Amino acid sequence: MTEDARTTLPLVFEQPRGRKKPPRHLADLSAEERAEVATALGQPAYRVKQVAHHYFARLERDPANMTDLPTATRDAIAAELLPTLLDEVRTQQADRGTTRKTLWRLFDGALVESVLMRYSERATVCVSSQAGCGMACPFCATGQGGLQRNMSTGEIVDQVVDAAAAMANGQVAGGPGRLSNVVFMGMGEPLANYRSVVNAVRRMTSPAPDGLGMSARNITVSTVGLAPRMRQLADEGVPVTLALSLHAPDDELRDELVPINTRFSVEDAVSAARYFFDVTGRRVSIEYAMMRDVNDQAWRADLLADVLIEHGGRGWVHVNLIPLNEVPGSRFTRSRDDDTDEFVRRLEAKGISTTIRDTRGDEIDAACGQLAATDA
Ligand code: SF4
Repeated sequence: MTEDARTTLPLVFEQPRGRKKPPRHLADLSAEERAEVATALGQPAYRVKQVAHHYFARLERDPANMTDLPTATRDAIAAELLPTLLDEVRTQQADRGTTRKTLWRLFDGALVESVLMRYSERATVCVSSQAGCGMACPFCATGQGGLQRNMSTGEIVDQVVDAAAAMANGQVAGGPGRLSNVVFMGMGEPLANYRSVVNAVRRMTSPAPDGLGMSARNITVSTVGLAPRMRQLADEGVPVTLALSLHAPDDELRDELVPINTRFSVEDAVSAARYFFDVTGRRVSIEYAMMRDVNDQAWRADLLADVLIEHGGRGWVHVNLIPLNEVPGSRFTRSRDDDTDEFVRRLEAKGISTTIRDTRGDEIDAACGQLAATDA
């Protein structure tokens, strides 16, 4: 099947049916849409702008603390635009308080997680974009439970605002600081919830009071390789960083590790990643979870380098090797250090820039592929 033919196919996993939508929230709306809501409420536009300033610039999520608004006005606007989207079930800490994993209950009882990680030079929040995930990657805890539903723009943004507030208020070890990075690597396949994710990125990058004023290049959107959506994202005009979770350079193995590969092959995914680079000028990150005796052979490192080089040289791409986060009961285990080192050596010998990812949050199951969102 050609790429064009695939583009016209409906992505059937995108909209689970029969689910009630999350309540509308300020963060779901653009500045123009917020002004329309103000008119509908009979409020002057500047009042809704004041609320947006509290939310995006002061990172205040509780209407009760927006004390410069007249109470009646505040209550009317809060009822329409500030419903509670995320109920905290619990927050766990690791890495001497610099990693925090929060379990959230959504309005319909669905559970999702986000993880805030503070490093010496940056602070990153890893957010969920779907409750569960329909991609069924066999090595991933999230994938085992299937997809419950897509998250709304507001539900995604609220995770970021909560993390930014936790940093600003000094709730993370190391004193008050600033949230600098967002990665869409929590629960879900972001590009299967395309519109909500792109709108969330717009809210994050719009200057205050219309958004959080973050740099698009500090926002990473990951995907298992939904090629048509990767191309659409390239054309969207939001220069985020794209991370392609490849995990295997050959279709035979990738069909097993990333089942959507039977629909969008290695060639489809890598071509779309290259297109993203051509359009945005942003170097693409290739994510590769190292699984012992499964995908970590030296010949696969050579093949991976060749596949990437075939798509236009070396400078467009960076490989990020991820020590596998083992899921209890899974047959997939973490690669030996020697095999990982050899994998790096082979890639670098062919001129491919490569790093091994720091594994934060292992001890609280907060690492990539471990977010199962159980309240047990
Ligand atoms: S690895 Fe990512 S895409 Fe695959 S099942 Fe897990 S959350 Fe979904």
